[in-house]
Amino acid sequence: MGEFELIRRYFLPVAEQRGHPDLLLALGDDCAIQRVPADQDLVFSVDTQVEGRHFPQHYRSEFTAWRALASAASDLAAMGATPVCFTLALTLPEADESWLEGFGRGLAQAASRFGLALAGGDTTRGPLTISIQVHGTVPRGQGLMRSGAKANDLVAVSGTLGDAGAALDFLDVQEPDDDERALLERYHHPLPRLELGQALRGFASACIDISDGLIADLGHILERSGVGAILNPELLPLSTPLHRCAGERAPRLALSSGDDYELCVTISEKHWGALPEGVKNQLTVVGRIDRGQGVRFEGGALADSGVRGFDHFGSIS
Ligand code: ADP
Ligand code: MG
Repeated sequence: MGEFELIRRYFLPVAEQRGHPDLLLALGDDCAIQRVPADQDLVFSVDTQVEGRHFPQHYRSEFTAWRALASAASDLAAMGATPVCFTLALTLPEADESWLEGFGRGLAQAASRFGLALAGGDTTRGPLTISIQVHGTVPRGQGLMRSGAKANDLVAVSGTLGDAGAALDFLDVQEPDDDERALLERYHHPLPRLELGQALRGFASACIDISDGLIADLGHILERSGVGAILNPELLPLSTPLHRCAGERAPRLALSSGDDYELCVTISEKHWGALPEGVKNQLTVVGRIDRGQGVRFEGGALADSGVRGFDHFGSIS
């Protein structure tokens, strides 16, 4: 199968399943053409996933595609952007038809779920690597950035944390129980918080998606904003399956494991009070911004549960 046959068979259908009114020209020409409405800013980002580094070797291609697009879409969520389209640069060791069939299927499912039209790409031979560039839009000047956190803002996170990280322990388990299955689902099919990000425009002072763990990613907000934060680990939102599978390790996973693709936002008390109930319900306040440096912890609860090790994250600011 040649390069063009491969594109026609596995990627053209993904482009054809859904377009976007702003995507004037997609796959098949030298470039795609996207029209950006005059009242919008274009928000874009590229994300690369390498086999053995970002996903396990011999990982199911369907999940590989979903996770690659989810991880890229999550950056749009963190900016409060509305998804428009993406390009796919795929490097493959060989044209394995069953692998490609699964990859195309996972890509189509994720593209339709996240509202992203496939605009084009590039296909080359080499070690398995997936690069995805995503494009989205925000009303002019309304993109959520990392740099706006202010002392006294609340720190809040969406959903529950640590689930995908816990799943790494049983990726190879043949017959997972219900709890393990729930955690595995969060690893295989992360759901970027696109609607939530958009709903936070005009409210959040800063926002980031949690791909490397709360401490590391909140650390990026703190650094860009020139502030510090105090977290209360007792407030961390932990799922029941995580409690049951990880026990005492649960808070540590919630603080330091990545791959959940939840959002971490800072928001003033005033804006928190003005948030619609349906948006507030998706968030849990876990701490507060202050004039200090880096991420620090409140209360003695951590000391007794063997989580003292978090101190070494103190240097991440
Ligand atoms: P060019 O040589 O002009 O860069 P290519 O031969 O690389 O064009 O690609 C031909 C067309 O197929 C282009 O429109 C490109 O966007 C699209 N394409 C190539 N690879 C992919 C892919 N992996 N996914 C989606 N579209 C792709
Ligand atoms: Mg090319």
